[in-house]
Amino acid sequence: MTKNLPECYTCKKKPAVTYRRIDGRYLCKECFSKWVSSIVRKTVSQKKLFERNDRIIVGLSGGKDSTVLLDILHKIERKYPSELIAVCIDEGIANYREDGLPIAEKIAKNLDVEFHLFSFKELIGYSLDEIVERSRELQEKLPSKGETKIVKHGPCSFCGVFRRKALNIAARKLNGDKVATGHNLNDVTQTILLNLLRGDSNKLLRGELPPEKTHELFVPRVKPLQAVAERDVVLYAFYNNLTYHTTECPYASKMGRSIS
Ligand code: SF4
Repeated sequence: MTKNLPECYTCKKKPAVTYRRIDGRYLCKECFSKWVSSIVRKTVSQKKLFERNDRIIVGLSGGKDSTVLLDILHKIERKYPSELIAVCIDEGIANYREDGLPIAEKIAKNLDVEFHLFSFKELIGYSLDEIVERSRELQEKLPSKGETKIVKHGPCSFCGVFRRKALNIAARKLNGDKVATGHNLNDVTQTILLNLLRGDSNKLLRGELPPEKTHELFVPRVKPLQAVAERDVVLYAFYNNLTYHTTECPYASKMGRSIS
């Protein structure tokens, strides 16, 4: 892959390993990683995502986005008195989350970041599998099509809503000031397009505002990877030898796109 690539545009010392599409320059893996970190640093600073002393709760699923998020925030925030706390939410999805939990715990341990595990069952009273089963039973009992307004929700709709709620409850229990999630540029762009199609100007504007505590029980959420493209998240993980959870969720084939 690297055979025909020129030397790194930035350091002019090492052989390049990747092509930066935004400006057509070739970079070595170290300069590429520094560039990705600098995008996150700029987002944090321009959008005023954190205060100096924040207790930052990082939603760590063990997937590529949250793994890269924790790695970069760990590099950025060690210069500040802020604290990073990793929180993993076990949705209760059989044959899926069991594999991801030890990976998430190990990621936090390798960075010496405090790690906490919470579950839907513990915080909400039901696992996602139970919610999906209950929803199926209820839908079978609902009147047939045409008689009333029946809105069918897929597993991902429940999962998205309850995961945000669970993270908020966990953040409050841990006295967190902000909840950081691993949404990348692709996720944020999809959300903007969906909000545009829905004509939801409030949600469109919200993305541009600094994080705000809109309710006393709400811990503001931030997306430090919002300017990093998914492709660059994957490359960052690869060049930094980050191990992450790659098993596909059994509900993924029913995945719609919930607005976050
Ligand atoms: S695919 Fe859907 S159900 Fe599975 S973890 Fe993602 S959002 Fe949750």
